[in-house]
Amino acid sequence: MSIKINNLSKYYGQQKALNNINLEINSNEVVGLLGPNGAGKSTLMKIITCFIPPSKGSVSVNGMDIIDNSIDIRKQIGYLPENNPLYPDMYIKEYLFFVAGIHNIENPKKRIQEIIELTGLTIEQNKKIRFLSKGYKQRVGIAQALIHDPKVLILDEPTSGLDPNQLSDIRNLIRTIGKEKTVLLSTHIMQEVEAMCSRVIIIKKGAVVADDATGNISKIFGEKNIITVEFDTPLNELKPNIEGLLHTKKISSTKWIVESSTKKDIRPELFKYAIDKNLTIISLNKETNTLEQVFQRLTK
Ligand code: ADP
Repeated sequence: MSIKINNLSKYYGQQKALNNINLEINSNEVVGLLGPNGAGKSTLMKIITCFIPPSKGSVSVNGMDIIDNSIDIRKQIGYLPENNPLYPDMYIKEYLFFVAGIHNIENPKKRIQEIIELTGLTIEQNKKIRFLSKGYKQRVGIAQALIHDPKVLILDEPTSGLDPNQLSDIRNLIRTIGKEKTVLLSTHIMQEVEAMCSRVIIIKKGAVVADDATGNISKIFGEKNIITVEFDTPLNELKPNIEGLLHTKKISSTKWIVESSTKKDIRPELFKYAIDKNLTIISLNKETNTLEQVFQRLTK
């Protein structure tokens, strides 16, 4: 199951929300769509799920075009819209029966019980939606998106507003679902992506500015050559004879930062320097760009 997006643009009147997007998303990937508020994440999701049409370009889901095969595509996509719209006066099961009816699901009772268990709703299953915590409401939103066993799951800000325990439960649930389905989720929180996604797509003002495996994204601006070194005794000065040394900076009596301009890893040289000076190193760490730093530099 793949999603192919070609030269996609979207205008709301004069407002350009998406600007010539090209992407391909393949099976069994959990992809994080990351961008500041207003970047175009929800717009992209609404187009893929056939809720709104594009202004230019095309999108296909499993080879079917979103305009020509909208009904068939909707059958294969589960969608949790932003702000998770639910019917608060319905009971959980009543609501899931209603959604199962829309999808014409055979034996809805059995499927609803399966989905209640999968999404961890069992202990709350007899309650009205209104009385659920935000975390459980989110589970109901994910349950309705999964009820017809779609191959693709599109989740718009699935973890927004959750407390740390609810957050961890929903992240685990999404990771479990991602083993069997293609998941595209949006967020403006970097840690979400690091916790759940194998791939990150960063968008800014409607355009893709980065697209890579989560583990690679921190290398976008090159490796930093900043080392934090800690000795077992206080030092007054640190002047290692290292090629390309830019500066050393004391951050506590025993801890120093050493920055060099070379691409070479300077840790072995620092280690030799310590031995020559009869110093004992107790930690030596190389800094890398965090996803947060990359995100800020790309989207500012
Ligand atoms: P995100 O989900 O990344 O926060 P959106 O896709 O919601 O971004 O919005 C992208 C841009 O399009 C924003 O500038 C937003 O104000 C604008 N926008 C979104 N929906 C509409 C709409 N229905 N009418 C006019 N402008 C809209």
